Amino acid sequence: PGGGGGYGGQQAYSEERKSARRVADHYSARSNQTLEERENSPIIHLKKLNNWIKSVLVQLYARPGDCVLDLACGKGGDLIKWDKAKVGYYVGVDIAEGSIKDCMTRYNGDTDQQRRKKFSFPARLICADCYETRLDEYLSDDAPFDICSCQFAMHYSWSTEARARQALANISALLRPGGTFIGTMPDANVIIKRLRETEAMEFGNSVYCITFGEEYAEKKFPASRPFGIKYKFHLEDAVDCPEWVVPFHLFKLLAEEYDLELVLMKNFHEFVNEYLQKPEFADLMRRLGALGDGRQGQSTLSQDEWEVSYLYLAFVLRKRGPPPSQ
Ligand code: SAM
Repeated sequence: PGGGGGYGGQQAYSEERKSARRVADHYSARSNQTLEERENSPIIHLKKLNNWIKSVLVQLYARPGDCVLDLACGKGGDLIKWDKAKVGYYVGVDIAEGSIKDCMTRYNGDTDQQRRKKFSFPARLICADCYETRLDEYLSDDAPFDICSCQFAMHYSWSTEARARQALANISALLRPGGTFIGTMPDANVIIKRLRETEAMEFGNSVYCITFGEEYAEKKFPASRPFGIKYKFHLEDAVDCPEWVVPFHLFKLLAEEYDLELVLMKNFHEFVNEYLQKPEFADLMRRLGALGDGRQGQSTLSQDEWEVSYLYLAFVLRKRGPPPSQ
């Protein structure tokens, strides 16, 4: 990967590869849940809320006919959102082989009923490390993309400066001028604030736990070393792997170096409060059932799940330059 990389030598590099592998193996090993297992998940409402947030981003920024690049696409949980937005073409990339296989199955339809109702857009799925590989070499026939999405995954690039730069270089190289980059990732301000509020090196509640190593015992994070700040994230029924703090102001500055300008950044709580005011999104929330109103025995997000959602933010960046004339 090109650019930067001023922190650590060969040993650090191979450590990073091991960490990336651990993340990939963790997600690869997570098998598809049955509908019943999903509904019984202790974080079912959080999952629904996350889906609502991603749907709002897609509905706000995707246009019919768009070419979509879904970085760290996982099992293809967003395919339906892109279908509803009537996009024209979809490329999904993920490091986890198991997830790409599941995504392929979901795209092709894994039941007779689904098979009859195919997605309306052609798709290409690729297994690759989005933060190490020069994706433009793979995707020269597919680019440029109108919109790039990286949901709940950008922070896996922040283990080294070189990886963070490769992630942004890929996005910038593949988006058309005026193209949009939408995403969600942990909110470093909230995570560091929570860490400093506790005596211990870990914090959490009944559904999540974040643990920092003793090397951060002073709870100081010098601006001169903004990459590779690792913590362990455990989220019941979802995640159990190393993650990296992404100081958002540095993410914004680095993105600017790659011609990606910030359009929007909102913590999930602010995002929910703002977009829930819009009738069409309030209606979608009702249909997804993330925030039941307690009537007719409808369950709703628990306080602990709501606390987890505060750990995340949504962002939108735009690639500099005028869109090509029609
Ligand atoms: N974007 C999907 C979604 O919102 O449902 C999946 C999110 S899941 C929390 C994080 C995903 O990031 C996993 O599928 C994982 O395999 C992927 N990932 C992590 N590091 C990656 C990398 N270096 N390159 C590509 N994908 C990566």
